Amino acid sequence: MIILKSKAEVEKIAKASRIVASTLQALKAYVSPGMTTLMLDTFAEKRIIEAGGIPAFKGYRNFPATLCVSVNEEVVHGIPSDKVLKDGDIVGMDLGVIVDGFYGDAAITVPIGEVDDEILRLLDVTEKSLYAGISQGLPGGRLSDISHAVQSTVEPQGYSIVTDFVGHGIGRSLHEEPQIPNFGPKGKGPRLKEGMVLAIEPMVNVGKPEVEVLGDGWTAVSSDRSLSAHFEHTVAITKDGPVILTQV
Ligand code: MG
Repeated sequence: MIILKSKAEVEKIAKASRIVASTLQALKAYVSPGMTTLMLDTFAEKRIIEAGGIPAFKGYRNFPATLCVSVNEEVVHGIPSDKVLKDGDIVGMDLGVIVDGFYGDAAITVPIGEVDDEILRLLDVTEKSLYAGISQGLPGGRLSDISHAVQSTVEPQGYSIVTDFVGHGIGRSLHEEPQIPNFGPKGKGPRLKEGMVLAIEPMVNVGKPEVEVLGDGWTAVSSDRSLSAHFEHTVAITKDGPVILTQV
C-alpha cells in the first residue's frame, strides 16, 4: 500500500530532507584527493547531529555508518573505510536523515580533483536522468512514466541502467511502497497522487548493467567493474507537480 502524506507530514519529510541536502552540499565542498572515505562519514555524522537530525542509515539492517560512499565501480552501499580517494576518482555519497520520525534520502556522485571529460559525461547523464524522472512526478500520471523518463535519458547515451536496485516511497520508513524502477514502458503502475513522497534514484553503469555484492555484504559493484554513478532526490507529488525536498 502506498501511504499518502498530509501537508504537515510532507513538511516533516522536508525538514529531514533539508539536512540531507545541506550535508551533501557540504560534503561536496569538503571532499578532496587524499581523504579517506571514513573522513567523509565522520564529517557527515557530526553535521547531521549538529543540525538536529539522526543519521538514518547507521544501524539500518546493521549498516555500520552514516554515509554510503561508493567509489568508481562501486554502484551503491559502499562502507566508509580507510580507502584513500585519489585524483580522477568519482565518489557517490548517499545519505538518509530522520527528523521527528520522518526520513529524507538523497545521493550525489562527485568528481575528485581532475576527472576525464568522458567520466564527467557519465555524471551529467545520470543527474539529467534523475531530473527527467522527477519531471514526470505529476498527479494523474503513472509511476512508470518516471521509470521510462530515466531509461530514455540514459540508454541513448550508451550507458546501462542498473536494474537490481530501485527507488522507493519514503516517509515514516526509509523504504515504503512503491518500488520505482529506473526502466520500463510509460503508462504503467499506480497512478501518481498528491501526497505521495518518492525517492527517485537512477544508478547508471558505463558498461553492462549487472551488479554484484562484495563479501562485506553491502558494497554493490558493477560486475564488469566499469564506472558507475548514482543520483537521488526525495520528491513530493503535489497538485502543482513534483517538489524536490532534498534541495537547499
Ligand atoms: Mg534511497
